Amino acid sequence: MMGMQPRVVTQNFIDGQWVDPTVDEVAEVYDSNTGEVIGSAPLSGPADVDLAVAAAQRALPAWRALSPAERAAHLRAVARELDARHEELSQLIMREVGANQEISRGAQTLTPVASFSIAADVLETYEFVEQVGANRVVREPIGVIGAITAWNFPLHLVTVKAAFAIAAGNTVVVKPSEVAPLTAAVFGEALQAAGLPAGVINIVFGTGPVVGEAIVEHPDVRMVTFTGSTRAGRRIGELAAQKVAKVALELGGKSPLVILPDAPLEEAVRFGIGDLLLNNGQRCDGLTRMVVPESLLPEVERIAVEAMSGLRVGPSTDESVEVGPLASQAQRDRVRGYIETGIREGARLLTGGLDEVEVPEENAAGYYVRPTVFSGVTRDMTIAREEIFGPVLSIQTYSDVDEAVEIANDTEYGLHAAVYGGDLDEALEIAGRLEAGMLTVNGGGMDLLAPFGGYKQSGIGREFGRLGFEEFLEVKAVRTPTGSAGATV
Ligand code: NAD
Repeated sequence: MMGMQPRVVTQNFIDGQWVDPTVDEVAEVYDSNTGEVIGSAPLSGPADVDLAVAAAQRALPAWRALSPAERAAHLRAVARELDARHEELSQLIMREVGANQEISRGAQTLTPVASFSIAADVLETYEFVEQVGANRVVREPIGVIGAITAWNFPLHLVTVKAAFAIAAGNTVVVKPSEVAPLTAAVFGEALQAAGLPAGVINIVFGTGPVVGEAIVEHPDVRMVTFTGSTRAGRRIGELAAQKVAKVALELGGKSPLVILPDAPLEEAVRFGIGDLLLNNGQRCDGLTRMVVPESLLPEVERIAVEAMSGLRVGPSTDESVEVGPLASQAQRDRVRGYIETGIREGARLLTGGLDEVEVPEENAAGYYVRPTVFSGVTRDMTIAREEIFGPVLSIQTYSDVDEAVEIANDTEYGLHAAVYGGDLDEALEIAGRLEAGMLTVNGGGMDLLAPFGGYKQSGIGREFGRLGFEEFLEVKAVRTPTGSAGATV
């Protein structure tokens, strides 16, 4: 167990209490580094969702009636309690997801703290009432929000949804991923310690088809915010449409990096690989396709192979490791399946592939995959089209910039795209032609005040910042009699 006590979660967090589930089944949770069981969480049933939604509904009137300053103070208390659990959370994520130490202790665990404080900042400065001509436009909470999340950033995905939804005055029922549920239990403890009023955030553990669908279909759940696969997002959209409930969807991606002919090549290629490998490639917005000038291909291949083959791959519990294992056996099999498909369909394997990663004896059953580069990838190949969610890069070539834009946009996804060029203005111009919700130009960084989300089949809606906050608000236009514009609603 490498020094960690198993974390056995037996109850849901409902109405400010830990409550036994009505179903007696559990999901085991595995250490990605060793394949050992490191804990478990309940697989609840629809009756548990009913309890949680009822608690959220009861909590709603008092919570939405608090002033922005009062609600913000609660959010900041949650941020402090999460921060106080930083080491415990990092250790869990290192094992549940295989994220290396830099990411486990960084983005995976710091973003959740930031989400609560940024949501508090937005709330405190937000104008809920606006005069539009003769009418008054008022923004109000939607009601009970269902939040359903993926395993790759298990805590962040739960907290970004919960923080912004409750900041806006809603109450929430969360279902974390059954693959990586353990940090959500620590989150529940943090909520209790922070003294968040009972029922404002409720956590029900279980599977998508049972607990997830029960949340989406519950008549009192007025909106569902989801992060996960496009397949599950489509199903959630269908179910929500039956009761005409709002959905916000953060789905998959197949994000391109267009390298322009005059780009500083070494820097551009290394930037792309660095982005791809964050969280071991288990990221919806990873730059998984590198779109490069035909004439520069040999040089790009040389740099890519050098960068990828020199990495330290192994258990994330080892501080020197740069690429850890994938989160689960299923994910490892899936990524290896794509590597096989790439080879079968005729892409050129430059480095990586299907050979086993050499790891210490106690890690032999972990879920490792070699960082892999394919070149000669054509637009119709599976590895150019489908999301792999692992450390696999596909290099595609173009002959002129118009073709580069066409290749970059030739995907059903539109989450993220990047451009690297020698001239910033030209790079920005090309970026403007790419169909994606987020664009990175010449290695720019992410700002949590800016919206996160995608075009096309990458989703609907945005998270973070003011726009992320507004996703969780209803809009009421009040038609006041002429001359009474100052009347309060
Ligand atoms: P998934 O879709 O299998 O599961 C995500 C969540 O949905 C889980 O909690 C699961 O239990 C639940 N779920 C599954 N089927 C459901 C159903 N029928 N009804 C209700 N809930 C259901 O995805 P995953 O394997 O956990 O995560 C990987 C996927 O998530 C990748 O495709 C990735 O691109 C995507 N992702 C997107 C973003 C983003 O912000 N765009 C971020 C992270 C992950």
